[in-house]
Amino acid sequence: MNYLIIRKNLQHLRHFGLSIKYPTYANENTRTEIKLIEKSNTVGANSVRPSNENTEERIIEPVYTLEDTDFEYSLRPKRLSEFIGQEKVKENLKIFIDAAKKRGENLDHVLLYGPPGLGKTSLASIIANEMGVNIKSTSGPAIEKPGDLAALLTNLQDGDVLFIDEIHRLSRQVEEILYPAMEDYFLDIIIGKGPAAQSIKIDLKRFTLIGATTRAGQLTGPLRDRFGVIMRLELYTEEQLCDIITRSSVILAIPTAQEGAKEIAHRSRGTPRIANRLLKRVRDFAEVLGDGRITKELAKIALDRLEIDNIGLDSLDKRLLTMIIKGYGGGPVGLDTLASALGEEAVTLEDVCEPFLMQLGFIARTPRGRTATALAYQHLGIEQMGQQKME
Ligand code: ADP
Repeated sequence: MNYLIIRKNLQHLRHFGLSIKYPTYANENTRTEIKLIEKSNTVGANSVRPSNENTEERIIEPVYTLEDTDFEYSLRPKRLSEFIGQEKVKENLKIFIDAAKKRGENLDHVLLYGPPGLGKTSLASIIANEMGVNIKSTSGPAIEKPGDLAALLTNLQDGDVLFIDEIHRLSRQVEEILYPAMEDYFLDIIIGKGPAAQSIKIDLKRFTLIGATTRAGQLTGPLRDRFGVIMRLELYTEEQLCDIITRSSVILAIPTAQEGAKEIAHRSRGTPRIANRLLKRVRDFAEVLGDGRITKELAKIALDRLEIDNIGLDSLDKRLLTMIIKGYGGGPVGLDTLASALGEEAVTLEDVCEPFLMQLGFIARTPRGRTATALAYQHLGIEQMGQQKME
């Protein structure tokens, strides 16, 4: 399945006469993370998007793909001061961290939520760095049995951080083990079955759980209530993305003009992961078609050839909007109907296309399904017949 993504990347770049390196793993931590991700193979904050024969590989995919592995580690901010944007989140975190350090206590459990690619995983390791503790990372679907979680928890030292990505995907059984662990730092495990079953209590060190999710609404009440700090990450502004691109260009030694960075930022859908990926792709074009420098003109040429339009929409977004407008008279149309009409997975449309299209005000969700707004008609240059008749 992952091979498919690599194969499609190769085809994509060969199309432009370019080549791509086979992903290399930056360090041991990254490799561990990848293994867990491959195991979970789900759609979420840091998972590898499943690919199928019908699904076109999207460069503006906000979730982690194998293409990101060779540079994501070096670009990940390590300290709070390197983390660009999300000012409110940073200010509050700084206060909580300073207070916990002053008291010599561990940090309260933290829940980070928001769309994929906005920095939840980065913030988790920043928190561990700032607290001066170790971090162990895993993801909800990778913890299959209560025993898996017990093994992770019993290996933590005082103050250590356990990061669980896609925490909304923990099974009920596993989640129940987490309640007393988060609240009173002990495990309550049943060993054996039937009348011989025994309950064993194991004391744990005072750890900090950091959970990340793209779907806070799917978290159960009891789990959500056990987090002392709950923070939502917002899509980034163009200026913040421009700063992120400039920082990444310095780290990757890509000569980038301010206007070139701006052009990429403008089409990055408010998401740092997409901004970094576009930067890397535009660099390929700059090296082949120019002198390696990313100028405004080169960025424009590259992004146009990658079929990302001037506001960041790609062909799937446009197919989605066109299907609502031309296939279903502008809507309302149900998500599953749309997904099968487009040959895509409903979760891709819901998690990847819709947040950005809704932010732009191009689609609206109604109880009867999705509708396209006047702005979407305008952007696609399609006349809104019904609207005109009504006026
Ligand atoms: P998430 O866990 O929300 O999917 P990540 O933390 O994995 O997102 O971020 C994806 C990439 O985007 C990171 O490798 C990092 O390079 C970049 N990134 C995210 N947020 C920021 C930020 N605020 N400043 C700089 N780079 C960022």
